[in-house]
Amino acid sequence: MAKKNKIMQNRIHLSIAHLSGRETKYIQEAFDSNWVTTAGHNLDAFEQELAAFLDASHSRESEPCHVLALNSGTAAIHLGLVLLGVETGDEVICQSFTYTASTNPIYYLGAKPVFVDSEPDTWNMSPEFLEKAIKDRIRETGKKPKVIIAVHLYGMPAKMDEILQIAGKYEIPVLEDAAEALGSMYKGIHCGTFGELAALSFNGNKIITTSGGGALLSKNEDYIKRARFLATQARDLAPHYQHSHVGYNYRMSNVLAGIGRGQMEVLPQRVEQRRKNNQFYRAHLSGIEGITFQTELSPDFFSNYWLTSIIIDPVKTGGVTREDLRLALEAANIESRPLWKPMHLQPVFADCPYYGDGTSERLFENGLCLPSGSILTEKDLDRIVENIRKRTNTYLATRTLSRWVQSE
Ligand SMILES: *Cc1c(COP(=O)(O)O)cnc(C)c1O
Repeated sequence: MAKKNKIMQNRIHLSIAHLSGRETKYIQEAFDSNWVTTAGHNLDAFEQELAAFLDASHSRESEPCHVLALNSGTAAIHLGLVLLGVETGDEVICQSFTYTASTNPIYYLGAKPVFVDSEPDTWNMSPEFLEKAIKDRIRETGKKPKVIIAVHLYGMPAKMDEILQIAGKYEIPVLEDAAEALGSMYKGIHCGTFGELAALSFNGNKIITTSGGGALLSKNEDYIKRARFLATQARDLAPHYQHSHVGYNYRMSNVLAGIGRGQMEVLPQRVEQRRKNNQFYRAHLSGIEGITFQTELSPDFFSNYWLTSIIIDPVKTGGVTREDLRLALEAANIESRPLWKPMHLQPVFADCPYYGDGTSERLFENGLCLPSGSILTEKDLDRIVENIRKRTNTYLATRTLSRWVQSE
């Protein structure tokens, strides 16, 4: 065993927490002041710092962003749907190509997801199938879907102009799932500030972390006030515990908000580092026949490149598939991961309507997320690229060899 450890290189992870060293100061402050639960200075400050970051891209006339720190991104999406009035029997449109946290809260409320496929440019919600879905649901049920959940997958901004235009035409509010897209921008404006409401995640694998956590965002302060009330068990104003609404226990802890403050100090560097990883991969892999990248469509799209994601076309790689590549990396102790399996293919959502042309299925089939943490070193990146090159070239070499052997 000891011998094996010696030759086995250390594991490279897909995306892990990257602390700045500045977190402990804020955590200590929480302990020193005895504010260790779900109220306190770190929470207020973390919310303000997030709002200031998101507002920085806005034109002067734009409304300021309001922020509520919560204990997960899933909680933020759940509360967002509650605020937008989703109830039992409603339908909610959701991008199919996403992580299940975008979709589960629809079920929590007894509502039904309606899945919309991706377009091949950004891999996010197809405006064409969005409109088809809305029209068809109205025809089928006589009722408009209640909310549209749009996702910025792997940090890539969705085509927000088109999506908002359709949402506006049918007067359906958009809930933006920006869990993977803090620091990403569309037309110079931060993701998370387009929808009626938006969700962020600070899970350990995201661009910044609070160990676990999330935030609800809105330019409408009333929504955030209401969310604050609902997230703390919806307690009415009374000396005793009086409740007129169903509440939730969804608030972030003041201790964890301290981690968030330490992370906010390095957020721009974290975005820069993930984008550098992406550039590195492009520089070293773009030449390989059959490997393509999720790519910014135009200067309107600025991705934080939370995860660098590639498509492997086995026809062009000479038969090397996504799974071949993933297993080769795994054998070298490097973690990579297939793209999200679309929600309309998940057993738990099997009987939900789906509108699309198979784009997300094809992406899932051939797509791989490469290690993308801001913590990666140049040496790590070299090792990853080398293994991908080996796997793609070895195959060709073997084939040439076997042909040569045959012709002997
Ligand atoms: C991470 C993530 C969320 C929220 O996840 P939490 O772990 O609850 O913070 C939501 N949507 C997407 C697309 C995500 O990647």
